Amino acid sequence: MAMATAKLLLLMVLVAASSCDGSAWRGPLSRLRMLPTAQYVVEAAAERLKEDVSSAPLIHALHPLLGSAGDFSRRAGVPCDSWRLAVETYNKRDWTTVPASCEGYVGHYMLGGHYRRDSRVVVDEAVAYAETLNLGGNGKEVWVFDIDETSLSNLPYYANHGFGTKPYNATSFNEYVLEGSAPVLPETQRLFKKLISLGIKPVFLTGRTEDQRAITVANLRRQGYSGWMKLLLKPVGLKATAIAYKSGERQKLQDAGFVIVGNIGDQWSDILGAPEGARTFKLPDPLYYIG
Ligand SMILES: [Mg+2]
Repeated sequence: MAMATAKLLLLMVLVAASSCDGSAWRGPLSRLRMLPTAQYVVEAAAERLKEDVSSAPLIHALHPLLGSAGDFSRRAGVPCDSWRLAVETYNKRDWTTVPASCEGYVGHYMLGGHYRRDSRVVVDEAVAYAETLNLGGNGKEVWVFDIDETSLSNLPYYANHGFGTKPYNATSFNEYVLEGSAPVLPETQRLFKKLISLGIKPVFLTGRTEDQRAITVANLRRQGYSGWMKLLLKPVGLKATAIAYKSGERQKLQDAGFVIVGNIGDQWSDILGAPEGARTFKLPDPLYYIG
Protein backbone atom coordinates (compact mmCIF):
# COMPACT_ATOMS: atom_id res chain seq x y z
CA MET A 1 0.00 0.00 0.00
CA ALA A 2 2.84 2.35 0.94
CA MET A 3 4.53 1.50 -2.34
CA ALA A 4 1.34 2.25 -4.29
CA THR A 5 1.00 5.62 -2.56
CA ALA A 6 4.61 6.46 -3.31
CA LYS A 7 4.09 5.57 -6.99
CA LEU A 8 0.99 7.79 -7.15
CA LEU A 9 2.91 10.70 -5.63
CA LEU A 10 5.72 10.22 -8.15
CA LEU A 11 3.22 10.12 -11.01
CA MET A 12 1.63 13.35 -9.84
CA VAL A 13 5.00 15.05 -9.66
CA LEU A 14 5.77 13.97 -13.23
CA VAL A 15 2.36 15.11 -14.44
CA ALA A 16 2.86 18.52 -12.85
CA ALA A 17 6.38 18.78 -14.25
CA SER A 18 5.04 18.27 -17.79
CA SER A 19 3.26 21.62 -17.62
CA CYS A 20 6.44 23.53 -16.74
CA ASP A 21 7.69 26.05 -19.29
CA GLY A 22 10.54 25.50 -21.76
CA SER A 23 13.27 26.46 -19.29
CA ALA A 24 12.77 23.06 -17.71
CA TRP A 25 14.51 21.52 -20.70
CA ARG A 26 17.86 23.19 -20.25
CA GLY A 27 19.28 20.55 -17.98
CA PRO A 28 18.56 18.20 -15.16
CA LEU A 29 19.42 20.73 -12.47
CA SER A 30 17.16 23.46 -13.79
CA ARG A 31 14.44 20.84 -14.21
CA LEU A 32 14.72 19.89 -10.58
CA ARG A 33 14.35 23.53 -9.58
CA MET A 34 11.10 23.72 -11.56
CA LEU A 35 9.44 20.95 -9.60
CA PRO A 36 6.95 22.04 -6.97
CA THR A 37 6.82 19.99 -3.81
CA ALA A 38 4.95 16.73 -4.00
CA GLN A 39 2.58 17.85 -1.26
CA TYR A 40 1.64 21.00 -3.14
CA VAL A 41 1.08 19.02 -6.33
CA VAL A 42 -1.17 16.49 -4.65
CA GLU A 43 -3.27 19.14 -2.96
CA ALA A 44 -3.58 21.26 -6.08
CA ALA A 45 -4.48 18.29 -8.28
CA ALA A 46 -7.06 17.05 -5.80
CA GLU A 47 -8.60 20.52 -5.56
CA ARG A 48 -8.82 20.92 -9.33
CA LEU A 49 -10.30 17.48 -9.71
CA LYS A 50 -12.96 18.25 -7.12
CA GLU A 51 -13.91 21.42 -8.99
CA ASP A 52 -14.02 19.69 -12.37
CA VAL A 53 -16.11 16.78 -11.20
CA SER A 54 -18.59 19.01 -9.43
CA SER A 55 -19.04 21.41 -12.34
CA ALA A 56 -18.98 19.06 -15.34
CA PRO A 57 -22.02 16.98 -16.28
CA LEU A 58 -21.21 13.32 -16.00
CA ILE A 59 -21.98 11.16 -18.97
CA HIS A 60 -20.90 8.01 -17.24
CA ALA A 61 -20.74 7.10 -13.61
CA LEU A 62 -17.23 5.74 -13.91
CA HIS A 63 -14.67 8.50 -14.20
CA PRO A 64 -11.05 7.60 -15.02
CA LEU A 65 -8.37 9.44 -13.09
CA LEU A 66 -5.29 8.04 -14.75
CA GLY A 67 -4.32 6.89 -18.24
CA SER A 68 -4.77 8.87 -21.46
CA ALA A 69 -8.45 9.53 -20.74
CA GLY A 70 -7.98 10.43 -17.12
CA ASP A 71 -8.49 13.73 -15.36
CA PHE A 72 -4.91 13.83 -14.19
CA SER A 73 -3.53 13.23 -17.68
CA ARG A 74 -5.58 16.17 -18.97
CA ARG A 75 -3.37 18.27 -16.73
CA ALA A 76 -0.42 16.72 -18.53
CA GLY A 77 -1.56 18.15 -21.85
CA VAL A 78 -4.22 15.94 -23.38
CA PRO A 79 -5.50 18.93 -25.44
CA CYS A 80 -1.99 18.88 -26.95
CA ASP A 81 -2.44 15.16 -27.51
CA SER A 82 -5.54 15.96 -29.57
CA TRP A 83 -3.62 18.65 -31.44
CA ARG A 84 -0.88 16.13 -32.23
CA LEU A 85 -3.40 13.59 -33.48
CA ALA A 86 -4.87 16.20 -35.85
CA VAL A 87 -1.36 16.95 -37.11
CA GLU A 88 -0.45 13.33 -37.68
CA THR A 89 -3.70 12.53 -39.47
CA TYR A 90 -3.29 15.52 -41.80
CA ASN A 91 -6.44 17.15 -40.53
CA LYS A 92 -4.39 20.08 -39.32
CA ARG A 93 -2.38 21.64 -42.15
CA ASP A 94 -0.36 24.74 -42.91
CA TRP A 95 0.50 25.36 -39.27
CA THR A 96 3.62 27.36 -38.61
CA THR A 97 4.45 26.70 -34.97
CA VAL A 98 3.55 24.31 -32.20
CA PRO A 99 1.08 26.00 -29.81
CA ALA A 100 3.08 27.66 -27.05
CA SER A 101 1.07 25.82 -24.42
CA CYS A 102 2.20 22.50 -25.95
CA GLU A 103 5.95 23.03 -25.62
CA GLY A 104 6.11 20.87 -22.51
CA TYR A 105 3.91 18.21 -24.04
CA VAL A 106 5.87 17.99 -27.29
CA GLY A 107 9.14 17.99 -25.37
CA HIS A 108 8.04 15.08 -23.23
CA TYR A 109 6.70 13.26 -26.27
CA MET A 110 9.92 13.67 -28.23
CA LEU A 111 12.41 13.06 -25.44
CA GLY A 112 10.54 10.33 -23.67
CA GLY A 113 9.74 6.86 -24.94
CA HIS A 114 6.49 7.75 -26.71
CA TYR A 115 8.07 9.09 -29.91
CA ARG A 116 10.37 6.10 -30.15
CA ARG A 117 7.52 3.66 -29.55
CA ASP A 118 5.38 5.32 -32.22
CA SER A 119 8.31 5.19 -34.65
CA ARG A 120 8.89 1.55 -33.84
CA VAL A 121 5.32 0.63 -34.72
CA VAL A 122 5.66 2.35 -38.10
CA VAL A 123 8.95 0.62 -38.86
CA ASP A 124 7.66 -2.76 -37.72
CA GLU A 125 4.87 -2.40 -40.27
CA ALA A 126 7.31 -1.32 -42.97
CA VAL A 127 9.62 -4.27 -42.30
CA ALA A 128 6.71 -6.73 -42.28
CA TYR A 129 5.51 -5.31 -45.60
CA ALA A 130 9.00 -5.44 -47.15
CA GLU A 131 9.35 -9.08 -46.18
CA THR A 132 6.23 -9.95 -48.21
CA LEU A 133 7.55 -8.46 -51.45
CA ASN A 134 8.42 -10.70 -54.37
CA LEU A 135 11.37 -9.03 -56.00
CA GLY A 136 11.92 -9.23 -59.73
CA GLY A 137 15.55 -10.22 -59.41
CA ASN A 138 16.72 -7.35 -61.62
CA GLY A 139 17.74 -5.04 -58.77
CA LYS A 140 15.22 -2.40 -59.76
CA GLU A 141 13.27 -2.18 -56.52
CA VAL A 142 13.99 0.96 -54.51
CA TRP A 143 12.70 2.46 -51.28
CA VAL A 144 12.60 6.22 -50.80
CA PHE A 145 13.78 7.67 -47.51
CA ASP A 146 13.40 11.24 -46.36
CA ILE A 147 16.31 12.47 -44.22
CA ASP A 148 15.32 15.03 -41.56
CA GLU A 149 13.18 13.54 -38.77
CA THR A 150 13.21 10.29 -40.75
CA SER A 151 16.77 9.03 -41.18
CA LEU A 152 18.43 11.65 -38.98
CA SER A 153 16.97 13.52 -36.04
CA ASN A 154 17.25 17.25 -35.45
CA LEU A 155 15.96 16.88 -31.94
CA PRO A 156 19.12 18.40 -30.41
CA TYR A 157 18.35 21.59 -32.34
CA TYR A 158 14.66 21.68 -31.54
CA ALA A 159 15.24 20.94 -27.87
CA ASN A 160 17.14 24.24 -27.76
CA HIS A 161 14.53 26.11 -29.79
CA GLY A 162 11.27 25.50 -27.98
CA PHE A 163 10.29 22.20 -29.57
CA GLY A 164 8.73 23.90 -32.59
CA THR A 165 6.97 26.67 -30.65
CA LYS A 166 9.31 29.30 -32.11
CA PRO A 167 9.10 30.43 -35.77
CA TYR A 168 11.45 28.57 -38.11
CA ASN A 169 14.80 30.30 -38.40
CA ALA A 170 16.55 29.14 -41.58
CA THR A 171 19.88 30.71 -40.60
CA SER A 172 20.26 28.99 -37.26
CA PHE A 173 18.81 25.72 -38.52
CA ASN A 174 21.23 25.61 -41.46
CA GLU A 175 24.10 26.34 -39.09
CA TYR A 176 23.03 23.28 -37.15
CA VAL A 177 22.80 21.17 -40.33
CA LEU A 178 26.33 22.23 -41.30
CA GLU A 179 27.65 20.80 -38.03
CA GLY A 180 26.77 17.38 -39.42
CA SER A 181 25.97 16.20 -35.93
CA ALA A 182 22.34 15.08 -36.26
CA PRO A 183 21.89 11.71 -34.57
CA VAL A 184 20.39 8.67 -36.24
CA LEU A 185 16.78 7.66 -35.83
CA PRO A 186 17.51 4.04 -34.91
CA GLU A 187 14.13 2.67 -35.97
CA THR A 188 14.52 4.01 -39.51
CA GLN A 189 18.06 2.69 -39.72
CA ARG A 190 16.76 -0.75 -38.80
CA LEU A 191 14.44 -0.58 -41.82
CA PHE A 192 17.24 0.77 -44.02
CA LYS A 193 19.53 -2.15 -43.18
CA LYS A 194 16.74 -4.69 -43.50
CA LEU A 195 15.91 -3.47 -46.99
CA ILE A 196 19.51 -3.77 -48.10
CA SER A 197 19.62 -7.33 -46.78
CA LEU A 198 16.48 -8.08 -48.80
CA GLY A 199 17.97 -6.60 -51.99
CA ILE A 200 15.90 -3.39 -52.02
CA LYS A 201 17.94 -0.26 -52.72
CA PRO A 202 17.50 2.79 -50.50
CA VAL A 203 17.23 6.22 -52.13
CA PHE A 204 17.46 9.35 -50.01
CA LEU A 205 15.18 12.13 -51.22
CA THR A 206 15.47 15.27 -49.14
CA GLY A 207 14.49 18.91 -49.05
CA ARG A 208 18.07 19.68 -48.06
CA THR A 209 19.79 21.57 -50.84
CA GLU A 210 22.59 20.47 -53.14
CA ASP A 211 25.13 22.70 -51.40
CA GLN A 212 24.60 20.60 -48.27
CA ARG A 213 25.55 17.36 -50.00
CA ALA A 214 29.01 16.90 -48.49
CA ILE A 215 27.96 17.52 -44.90
CA THR A 216 24.83 15.41 -45.35
CA VAL A 217 26.87 12.47 -46.65
CA ALA A 218 29.33 12.88 -43.77
CA ASN A 219 26.51 13.03 -41.24
CA LEU A 220 24.78 9.95 -42.66
CA ARG A 221 28.02 7.96 -42.71
CA ARG A 222 28.96 9.05 -39.19
CA GLN A 223 25.58 7.77 -38.04
CA GLY A 224 26.04 4.36 -39.59
CA TYR A 225 24.31 4.67 -42.97
CA SER A 226 26.00 3.15 -46.01
CA GLY A 227 24.99 1.40 -49.20
CA TRP A 228 22.36 3.82 -50.47
CA MET A 229 21.81 3.94 -54.23
CA LYS A 230 21.18 7.68 -54.61
CA LEU A 231 21.10 10.83 -52.55
CA LEU A 232 18.73 13.31 -54.19
CA LEU A 233 19.00 16.87 -52.91
CA LYS A 234 17.02 19.90 -53.97
CA PRO A 235 18.73 22.25 -56.43
CA VAL A 236 19.67 25.54 -54.77
CA GLY A 237 17.09 28.20 -55.54
CA LEU A 238 14.45 25.79 -56.86
CA LYS A 239 11.01 27.27 -56.24
CA ALA A 240 8.69 24.33 -55.87
CA THR A 241 6.54 22.92 -53.13
CA ALA A 242 7.87 19.89 -51.33
CA ILE A 243 5.14 17.75 -52.86
CA ALA A 244 5.91 18.93 -56.40
CA TYR A 245 9.67 18.55 -55.98
CA LYS A 246 9.59 15.14 -54.32
CA SER A 247 6.92 13.61 -56.55
CA GLY A 248 8.86 14.90 -59.57
CA GLU A 249 12.01 13.15 -58.36
CA ARG A 250 10.09 9.94 -57.77
CA GLN A 251 8.70 10.20 -61.29
CA LYS A 252 12.25 10.40 -62.63
CA LEU A 253 13.15 7.26 -60.71
CA GLN A 254 10.17 5.48 -62.18
CA ASP A 255 10.95 6.74 -65.69
CA ALA A 256 14.46 5.32 -65.28
CA GLY A 257 12.96 1.89 -64.73
CA PHE A 258 13.03 1.70 -60.96
CA VAL A 259 10.10 0.35 -58.98
CA ILE A 260 9.36 2.35 -55.85
CA VAL A 261 8.16 -0.35 -53.51
CA GLY A 262 8.12 1.87 -50.42
CA ASN A 263 8.42 5.45 -49.28
CA ILE A 264 8.91 6.70 -45.73
CA GLY A 265 8.97 10.21 -44.31
CA ASP A 266 7.86 12.33 -41.39
CA GLN A 267 5.89 14.87 -43.48
CA TRP A 268 2.78 14.31 -45.52
CA SER A 269 4.59 16.14 -48.32
CA ASP A 270 7.06 13.22 -48.37
CA ILE A 271 4.39 10.71 -49.23
CA LEU A 272 1.78 12.63 -51.25
CA GLY A 273 1.91 13.22 -54.99
CA ALA A 274 2.08 10.50 -57.65
CA PRO A 275 4.00 8.34 -57.92
CA GLU A 276 3.97 7.97 -54.14
CA GLY A 277 5.40 4.46 -54.12
CA ALA A 278 3.59 1.15 -53.75
CA ARG A 279 3.24 1.76 -50.02
CA THR A 280 3.92 4.78 -47.88
CA PHE A 281 4.82 5.07 -44.22
CA LYS A 282 4.41 8.18 -42.09
CA LEU A 283 6.68 8.68 -39.11
CA PRO A 284 5.55 10.97 -36.31
CA ASP A 285 6.63 14.60 -36.28
CA PRO A 286 4.89 17.14 -34.07
CA LEU A 287 7.79 19.64 -34.36
CA TYR A 288 7.09 21.32 -37.71
CA TYR A 289 5.03 21.26 -40.86
CA ILE A 290 6.33 21.33 -44.44
CA GLY A 291 3.64 21.81 -47.06
MG1 LIG B 1 11.65 15.09 -42.95
